[in-house]
Amino acid sequence: MRVGLSIDPPLAAIPGILAQEGVDTFQTVVRDPGRFGNYGVPDPSDRAALVDGLRGRGTWGVAHGSLLVNLASPEGRIRNSSVSSLLADLKVAAEIGLNGVCFHVGYAKGHPSVEAAMQLATRKLGELVERMPAGPVLYIENSCEGSELGQTIAELARLLRDVGAPPERLGLLIDTCHLHAAGFDLSGEDAGQRLADALSAEGVLDRVAAFHLNDCQLPAGAHRDRHATPGRGTMGIGVASVARHPAFAALPGIIELSVEDAREGLAFLREHGALAS
Ligand SMILES: [Zn+2]
Repeated sequence: MRVGLSIDPPLAAIPGILAQEGVDTFQTVVRDPGRFGNYGVPDPSDRAALVDGLRGRGTWGVAHGSLLVNLASPEGRIRNSSVSSLLADLKVAAEIGLNGVCFHVGYAKGHPSVEAAMQLATRKLGELVERMPAGPVLYIENSCEGSELGQTIAELARLLRDVGAPPERLGLLIDTCHLHAAGFDLSGEDAGQRLADALSAEGVLDRVAAFHLNDCQLPAGAHRDRHATPGRGTMGIGVASVARHPAFAALPGIIELSVEDAREGLAFLREHGALAS
């Protein structure tokens, strides 16, 4: 896999850090991820510095959407702010040449059934896709905590099917830690094959566009989001097995940890033949 780093703004720092760490794949944020509204949106000079610094380098980059996004919120104000926030992120992503924006769908909490929440999320996601600018792709990221939607491959596949958007608009970003925490055990040498088989069985193997390549501090099924350095968590060799599987080996992946911890994870992946050369 083409594995890289999560780097917080200023955007201007990203080209230098990528060069220093010898990677060409990154994730960042283009707003304060803990707030709705245009807080912490990089100013024009910061955006220009990123564009200049990455020109001609063939990097792959994604912005992580606001952590407050909840397309299934029973409150209309939250649903609409979720859509506007993601649209604003997509607009910035288009301007600075990022490949896409990833986000968590939302929660079933406050609804009489998961079904009701899924229907609402599907509708809002459809509206979002209708209004998104040309260029960047929206990546649905799988979740693992509480009443979060999109914890299983079946539920992610259903969202893709029901929204009906093409792959160049809507794709999947699989966070290995979240999937493991949600109960899909990704430990062991056969983890990559089992994951490819499960995605294939739901008809969405070719919709996987990127990974968050995190190991997990807690056991499979713990339903808690606690990232670990690849090789240091309960997935162990399973992380490398996913990263070097033929179905995923050409895709971008992000280690969502500090640059120092990610460096150790990259060394583990390299040692196990899981980094694209
Ligand atoms: Zn996570």
